[in-house]
Amino acid sequence: PDGPPLLELRDLHVGYGAIEALKGVDLEVRRGEVVALLGANGAGKSTTLKTVSGMLAPRSGEVLLHGERIDGITSHQLVRFGLGHVPEGRRVFGRMTVLENLHMGAYRLRRPDPADLERVFALFPRLHERRRQVAGTLSGGEQQMLAIGRALMGKPELLLLDEPSMGLAPLIVQQIFGILREINEQGTTLLLVEQNATQALQLADRGYVLETGELVMSGPAGELLSDPRIRAAYLGEH
Ligand code: ATP
Repeated sequence: PDGPPLLELRDLHVGYGAIEALKGVDLEVRRGEVVALLGANGAGKSTTLKTVSGMLAPRSGEVLLHGERIDGITSHQLVRFGLGHVPEGRRVFGRMTVLENLHMGAYRLRRPDPADLERVFALFPRLHERRRQVAGTLSGGEQQMLAIGRALMGKPELLLLDEPSMGLAPLIVQQIFGILREINEQGTTLLLVEQNATQALQLADRGYVLETGELVMSGPAGELLSDPRIRAAYLGEH
């Protein structure tokens, strides 16, 4: 609880041409936390993650990591800053093998650490079984595991996850969220974007709700999970 938050967004404004996607977002993630960022389609969740990871530059406002400004970093500097980004839609290198994909995750470090590879294979035994398989032929769930594993190879202190449940069967989603919990218990902080609010809030310590570029609610995950407004808007209850 002492010192600056691991990640802090201050009055962040981000746009695409005439579109104002984020209109002054303030958010923080403390070391060791799991934080869920919820909201409907187009609320600005992906834009938030892309701004943290340097894929988008903010129009104004600040991104701080350990209290130091990082807005303006380029996305290839991200691994050096201890950030890992698991993008929406997984984006694995389809023609490369599982092992090659994992090595790509470490290429910004001096050399891949064999301990990281062991950690990834311990978390995802399926990836070990399929290590010589071309990634494009993996199932959706396996590709999601690979995308997470690849990000872990960069030794992130903070892992940004964009809709890890997207397009996956409920059983696979359960499995992946179980592994995310394990990753967090091993010491990695998570900032998680999800449309699947129930899953996300069951894993998270705290949550934020975005609506058309503005935060409209935040609090402990348990409180959000039982909030009638959240239940009506995001958990399909009316
Ligand atoms: P989704 O779950 O659908 O990805 P989201 O909450 O992640 O939703 P964003 O992708 O961050 O939402 O989009 C926020 C707003 O910015 C939306 O109005 C969207 O149409 C717009 N937007 C996103 N990407 C672009 C782009 N490349 N060019 C123009 N507008 C964009």
